[in-house]
Amino acid sequence: MSETDADTLFERIIAGEIPADVVYQDDTTFAFRDIRPQARVHVLVVPKKRYRNVAELAAGDPRLLADVVATARKVAELEGIVESGYRVVFNTDSDAGQTVFHVHAHVLGGEPLGLFGT
Ligand code: C5P
Repeated sequence: MSETDADTLFERIIAGEIPADVVYQDDTTFAFRDIRPQARVHVLVVPKKRYRNVAELAAGDPRLLADVVATARKVAELEGIVESGYRVVFNTDSDAGQTVFHVHAHVLGGEPLGLFGT
């Protein structure tokens, strides 16, 4: 997948052009299950407006970043993992393994999660 394809992938999912298992959406955010889940619950939360990564989102539209975090919490409620706990991760650029350059929060949980590392 070229970076251009990866850039537009989530916009095409949001537009309904590529099928996805949608968990939640509202005016500004969109949440769907990751196709390669790394935990029992693994949902991606994406702002409908594209920013390359979380730093650019924070600088460009902090209210939209707050919407993404609020949607992550909403997803945790819908998935029943608020009490057990969950992790929210923004991979940023190559060493973190970011492959899609449309900022997205990974919401992970539903089981004990491993420690961070390589
Ligand atoms: O943080 P990163 O950019 O690596 O995350 C991209 C995520 O998008 C991956 O976890 C991948 O499994 C997911 N993905 C998806 N549906 C696609 C393409 C990628 O859920 N069609």
